[in-house]
Amino acid sequence: MVYHLALYMEAGTLASKAAEISWSAGQGLAPGSAVLIFWAMKHLICPACHAVNRADETRLGQAVCGKCAQPLAGIQVLHLDALLLDRLLAKDGLPLLVDFWAPWCGPCKKMAPAFEEAARLLGPGVRLGKVDTQEHQALGARFQVQSIPTLALFRDGREVDRMSGAMPAGDIVAWAKSLLG
Ligand SMILES: [Zn+2]
Repeated sequence: MVYHLALYMEAGTLASKAAEISWSAGQGLAPGSAVLIFWAMKHLICPACHAVNRADETRLGQAVCGKCAQPLAGIQVLHLDALLLDRLLAKDGLPLLVDFWAPWCGPCKKMAPAFEEAARLLGPGVRLGKVDTQEHQALGARFQVQSIPTLALFRDGREVDRMSGAMPAGDIVAWAKSLLG
């Protein structure tokens, strides 16, 4: 079987063929092919300035924002307000793991280092963020957070699953990986 693939880029009102490639099953594709790089591109929201960027999925750790030059993805835990959370859910190409917590909650504070460790272990391909439900009570209500800490995993803007109660880093990572495949 021969596969044939053509890629069209929009240029004004005209569509022009940007790349074309064909290959036979089992033949393999040349690494670094422009077409493959295009497929690996993801839309990423800059956590610093909220601009939409396009970044190579295979080099997320090095990607910086075209507008403000801040890193687009990393292993830092993000502090989410409604604006950034909504922007990520609407436009960002990475899965998002949210820790709903509050400063008065002992188990939440105890889990904080485990959540940061989970961010390092999961790497730049998964975003980890925290929502302070005391500061952002409307978000806690909107996402129907019944108890804290609650971890919720979002993909393509939709909640995939949630877990309540403090967990060690290894359990957080295993749970996220089981959902993300
Ligand atoms: Zn930016």
